[in-house]
Amino acid sequence: MKRILSIILILSLTACNGATNDIVATSINVGATTGIVEVNESVGANFRSPYVGDESDTSGEKDENANNKLEIPSDFIVKDKYTIENIYVDFSAPYATYSIINDGYAVLYKLNKSDAYRYTGKTVAINAGHGTKGGSKIKTFSHPDFTPKVSGGTTSAGSVLSSAVSEGMVFNNGMTEANANLAVAYALKDKLLDNGYSVLMIRENDDCRLDNIARTVLANENADAHIAIHFDSTASNKGIFYITPYNDKNYLDMEPVKSNANNIKKLGDSIIEAFRGMGEKIWKNKGTLQGDLTQISFSTNASVDIELGDKATEVTEDKVGIFAEGIYKGIDNYFYE
Ligand SMILES: [Zn+2]
Repeated sequence: MKRILSIILILSLTACNGATNDIVATSINVGATTGIVEVNESVGANFRSPYVGDESDTSGEKDENANNKLEIPSDFIVKDKYTIENIYVDFSAPYATYSIINDGYAVLYKLNKSDAYRYTGKTVAINAGHGTKGGSKIKTFSHPDFTPKVSGGTTSAGSVLSSAVSEGMVFNNGMTEANANLAVAYALKDKLLDNGYSVLMIRENDDCRLDNIARTVLANENADAHIAIHFDSTASNKGIFYITPYNDKNYLDMEPVKSNANNIKKLGDSIIEAFRGMGEKIWKNKGTLQGDLTQISFSTNASVDIELGDKATEVTEDKVGIFAEGIYKGIDNYFYE
């Protein structure tokens, strides 16, 4: 029987400024007699990746050096687990020219089929919300047909223009939402890569030069699903929910919302049900809030803004893992259940 020894990557919650090109990916596959051991190393300026033990290690102590000192028999096959590519906005793609901040790039972690423990052939775009310096001062059209927003939010209802990227909130404990979103994004990335999905990381640091339209276009063109990670600006510890397309006739008749609303709802519901199954608190039991978001207005694939709680939510390292697990399960159930 196959078994996997897990390597826990701990993401530093401090700002991630390092060049993404520094990230190195390797995997080590172990032959049939011992099952499969996967080591997925991400080495970058802002990462610590301590090896925290395997099934035979019950001490629970961190071994700072073990990550690079696993004893590997000589017949082990060492291959890359995935390739990395920087993906820029394709300005011939639908809606691309609506973006203003668009000289940055997303990073595609493309799983190698031959090395994968499981291979789905699908790509998930992970969009850690906020994190674009000066993004709130620049405005982009709220809708592709230039009509005004039908619901309020960071930008109020009736606005033809919306913030290109808003600031995001600050938690009661002083952590910024942008940082928490990024921590969950990295944990989700590992979860997806370990389970057969390629990942398009739209933001990997604290100043992503992509506005919400550019992010959405990148996800439309390069991924099967788009997950934007957020926490809400209330302080009531409200629980988890996602944003469904606002119930306004004109909005629901506008493309691409008209053709895509069901994909959004199906993926969103799947993520909420996964969290419910894990015993997580769901806002008002239903876990949905109607909204008119740039992401929804310009998405052409299964695209969900998930709100993992609010200012009162304690985002611990354990909790980051739980959030990643719930989102992953929701995505996997959406595609395969
Ligand atoms: Zn947010």
